[in-house]
Amino acid sequence: MKLAILGGKITIDNEPEALFHWPIVTDEDITAVTDVLKAGIMSGTGITKQFEKEFASWIGSEYALGFCNGTASILAAMWACGIGAGDEVIAPSMTYWASAAPALSLGATVNFCDIDRRTLCIDPTDVEHRIGPRTKAIVVVHYAGHPSPMDEIMAIARKHNLKVIEDTSHAQGSLYKGRKCGTIGDVGAMSMMAGKSFAIGEAGMLVTSNREIYERAVLFAHYERTGAASRFNATDNQLTDPELQHFAGIPIGAMKGRMNQTCSAMGRVQLKYYPQRIQEIQDSMNYFWSKLDGVPGIKPHRPDYWENSTMGGWYYSQGLYYAEQLGGLSSEKFSRAVNAEGVHQCFPGGNSPLHIHPFFHDSDLFHLGKPTAVAFADRDVRQGEGALPVSESIHEITVAVPWFKHLDKKMIDQYAQAFRKVAEGADQL
Ligand SMILES: *Cc1c(COP(=O)(O)O)cnc(C)c1O
Repeated sequence: MKLAILGGKITIDNEPEALFHWPIVTDEDITAVTDVLKAGIMSGTGITKQFEKEFASWIGSEYALGFCNGTASILAAMWACGIGAGDEVIAPSMTYWASAAPALSLGATVNFCDIDRRTLCIDPTDVEHRIGPRTKAIVVVHYAGHPSPMDEIMAIARKHNLKVIEDTSHAQGSLYKGRKCGTIGDVGAMSMMAGKSFAIGEAGMLVTSNREIYERAVLFAHYERTGAASRFNATDNQLTDPELQHFAGIPIGAMKGRMNQTCSAMGRVQLKYYPQRIQEIQDSMNYFWSKLDGVPGIKPHRPDYWENSTMGGWYYSQGLYYAEQLGGLSSEKFSRAVNAEGVHQCFPGGNSPLHIHPFFHDSDLFHLGKPTAVAFADRDVRQGEGALPVSESIHEITVAVPWFKHLDKKMIDQYAQAFRKVAEGADQL
């Protein structure tokens, strides 16, 4: 069949917007938000605390702590894990910057490791040799909804007494061997930004079952939560430990992290429907991939090799792209040909590698006249081009695929046909 990019017939001439619209907002969300506005309680924590309780119960953690965004929740998680000036954090290079950059706000540095070509998550074989005397934590990112290899990572972390922070921004509801992502390491931190899988505006959430980490996260950014007596967050009027008196009432992170209550109200409604909505997404995405079974060049990014493991809401759904099966056709050219078939959600995928970004090499946050990455460190772990080959090839080895929200088999068939047509007609390009 002649490809549309070469003048052939276009596969999809009218993309159905409703198939992709997200988040799904109903009158129930709108009422919940306007109730907050009418009651004049935008700032406060009442509704946020209810949302936290429900979210913790759904994800399966003891505690949940709402934040103003995901970046703030990751910063607080890092501080709560004891990361400070001169310390090192190991993180995958191929992720959104906020998985790693907050370490520099604390005067720490990031020793980036590579990703696994199959999972697009941290490569567990590239972690252990990076551990030094100042290494405090490993950050994993359940990339594009795909669970990270937690068994391997937890074994390394326990052996070397490191904390594990799970960036769950893409993966609310993803299962790793039957356990929800975000609850397997010491602490989970995540974005709930409007474009993400669990989307409620600008918001973030920290989850943990470790009381000490929870209290330290409160102390870092939630000055108003001084109601409960705590070793780490002494109450304003119940100061038992004189050493902690100067913390009372002022967050040690000198930042205010709380979630806007309009977001919390929407979060409570979204959570009610989230399990059924992501089930429909899983059914739709699995249906799409079943239609591409055996097609050369493109394979699902999906944890088929682990039992009871799922992709949650399939945020930023990716296909693993193998140019060598299509005569070396670049992901860029492949995507342009798919676009020409009427599919806009196809482009070279992933996030650009962080280890070569100037931010992690040169930024001088503390005005010390030297890069923060080395300002307090006892070794320089910055890495140049060529160091992490899988991360650096990310745009060549992945293509973004449509993120279906509804099981509309007739439409999904057409989308799959567009990909199949280009893959099977690759020799025309
Ligand atoms: C979006 C995102 C964040 C940051 O969250 P914000 O809510 O935008 O601050 C962190 N990590 C990953 C992997 C993300 O995709």
